[in-house]
Amino acid sequence: METLGTVLITEEQIADAVARLGAEISADYADSDVLLVGILKGAFLTMADLSRQIQVPVEFDFMAVSSYGDATKSSGVVRILKDLEQEISGRHVVIVEDIVDTGLTLHYLLENLWVRKPASIEIAALLVKEGIQEIPIEVKYRGFNIPPDFVVGYGLDYTGLYRNLPYVTVLDPDDLPS
Ligand code: 5GP
Repeated sequence: METLGTVLITEEQIADAVARLGAEISADYADSDVLLVGILKGAFLTMADLSRQIQVPVEFDFMAVSSYGDATKSSGVVRILKDLEQEISGRHVVIVEDIVDTGLTLHYLLENLWVRKPASIEIAALLVKEGIQEIPIEVKYRGFNIPPDFVVGYGLDYTGLYRNLPYVTVLDPDDLPS
């Protein structure tokens, strides 16, 4: 199958990184239960693949958020479309994200979740855009640092499409058929 755009991270590189993150999480939570919180929709593939690389018992929950603004820029104002189903009080939470860009979405989520008194919260993100985080967020488990280009694939979309690409690719919206 022909690839789309300029491939930044291949399927193999993603698999290696996800295995590494799974090993790190397994080692860090050897003595405690983990609640993985996937942020829909973008993190669904990272969640599925990462969780299968974790060797300690994990539970799953999901949140769906949408940030107001245009398709390629984060506004920082976050709307919760779907909240957690579980109480997280006293739990060790690992938020699973596809990408951290400005950090505004995670900043909002962290504030929202800390109020619920979890024992800990860490962040696992496949991609972190370098240099443009408006709010520095500590991403303990990170797959790749990437340049500040707009990317799609492996869960990330453009107008709802391309989430199923098995690689991460740089897409210039000007190149797309309208
Ligand atoms: P932040 O609030 O950190 O700026 O952005 C986080 C969210 O913006 C991500 O979860 C993702 O939904 C979206 N986003 C940020 N950068 C990109 C990108 O390069 N491509 C796509 N498809 N979405 C992005």
